[in-house]
Amino acid sequence: MKSVAIIGGGITGLTAAFYLQRAGIPVTVYEATGRVGGAIQSFRKDGYLAEFGPNTILETSPKITQLVNDAGLQARRMDPDPKAEARYVVRYKRPIEMPGSPLGFFTTPLFTLGAKFAVMREPFRPVKRDGVEESIANFVRRRLCPEFLDQAIDALVGGIYAGDPEKLSVQQAFPKLAALEEKYGSMIKGQILGARERKKSGEVAKDRAPKFSFDEGLQVLPDTLRDLLGASVRLNTSVTKLTQTQSGWTVEFRNAGGAGQAEHSAVLYAGTAFKLAELNLAAATPVDLKPFSEIRYPPVASVVLGFRREDVAHSCNGFGMLVPKVEGFKILGSIFSSALFPNRAPAGHQTLTSYIGGERYPELASLPAEKLYEIVQEDLRVLLGVRGKPTFAHTVYWPKAIPQYNLGYGKYRALMTDIEAKTPGFFLAGHYRDGISLGDSILSGMNVVERIMKAVKR
Ligand SMILES: Cc1cc2nc3c(=O)[nH]c(=O)nc-3n(C[C@H](O)[C@H](O)[C@H](O)COP(=O)(O)OP(=O)(O)OC[C@H]3O[C@@H](n4cnc5c(N)ncnc54)[C@H](O)[C@@H]3O)c2cc1C
Repeated sequence: MKSVAIIGGGITGLTAAFYLQRAGIPVTVYEATGRVGGAIQSFRKDGYLAEFGPNTILETSPKITQLVNDAGLQARRMDPDPKAEARYVVRYKRPIEMPGSPLGFFTTPLFTLGAKFAVMREPFRPVKRDGVEESIANFVRRRLCPEFLDQAIDALVGGIYAGDPEKLSVQQAFPKLAALEEKYGSMIKGQILGARERKKSGEVAKDRAPKFSFDEGLQVLPDTLRDLLGASVRLNTSVTKLTQTQSGWTVEFRNAGGAGQAEHSAVLYAGTAFKLAELNLAAATPVDLKPFSEIRYPPVASVVLGFRREDVAHSCNGFGMLVPKVEGFKILGSIFSSALFPNRAPAGHQTLTSYIGGERYPELASLPAEKLYEIVQEDLRVLLGVRGKPTFAHTVYWPKAIPQYNLGYGKYRALMTDIEAKTPGFFLAGHYRDGISLGDSILSGMNVVERIMKAVKR
């Protein structure tokens, strides 16, 4: 039996490969770089454990727990310190704890009285049902108020997408939010009434979902899947061309040994949208992959700094802080990494992971490391009272970090559906199709397995 080719050894490709292999279907994973994990990148040095890509997985679905269990990783899973629940948003140049209850919302200094009234009025706002796509900024201005956009949503969008709220499509980037208006006529009513439905399906809303990692960081998950997949994973092997044949697909690749090719029953592309656009696809019904190069991935720099505990005035008891643009800082936000997982810093020290760039300041992300440390330290000095020299400083530059599900993104998703329909045996999955989070990517990898199995067992 010919194997299924999986292009991309990120979490999507590895999850799909793992479940196909468990179902008795042979796989070959082609990964262009020398390591698995893609955007996941954990790094241990001098008693610190840094995450340069994602920091946590949100357990939004029981299927995510299933993957951890199926990979035999229950014992290595790490849940955050329960004391690190608080989330902060910067206002008046200081981090203010986000309210965790309705009473907290009415007493928080994070929003003015006007913004609080806007929230109370939200269930009575007119419903937009014209089917025209809308930016998240417009959606929030329309249903809430400009202050909510500038002080809260801008920060959130910076933290999740490193994106621009004026460009991100609410229907594409925050489909659940758009669906609440569509179905219940209000976000607030939908939050309350939708809770019962979510409970039934086992799904958990992103803002309530438990987060977790592993003892040696998120890299544990792709590394374990690679070990379970064994010789099926080919590192440093970049796929360049796919040709549809009578009985499947010919995959052409390049590696240290030069160019090569192999026959496969089906192909799953689980890479990035911009690399998809570079693939040469020769199918019986021609399809155009070039439009995927238009999908914007802004640059981001992850800056991980360690400090002596006594050099940080703020308690940093919490998940981290988000910074809206109007506050005038350069960082998009910081994660209080060692408050979440104490093994991220040596005793008496603290790790703070900050992000620079995105759509807000793309030009800053590519600055030299020393300049980035200087900028981040200055912001952390003002916001958290950080003094003294860092005891750990590392940065990773992501020239193309996170795809922006901007207005019009629906046409790329429609094109993906069209390509799968026109080229039987060729599948598309991952962060550029089914949602940008790690959890979304895991679910994308699990869900595509069913489609592939149907095709290869036919
Ligand atoms: C800085 C940063 C922070 C993030 N923080 C979070 C977070 O806290 N929580 C969260 O849930 N998500 C976060 N994310 C998003 C999340 O990490 C990604 O969406 C997810 O890891 C994507 O997985 P993937 O497998 O779809 O793609 P990727 O991880 O991008 O993997 C794709 C792989 O395909 C390979 N590839 C591409 N083309 C080819 C080819 N032609 N031949 C062979 N190999 C190829 C690439 O080398 C790559 O390894 C973050 C992302 C970044 C960049």
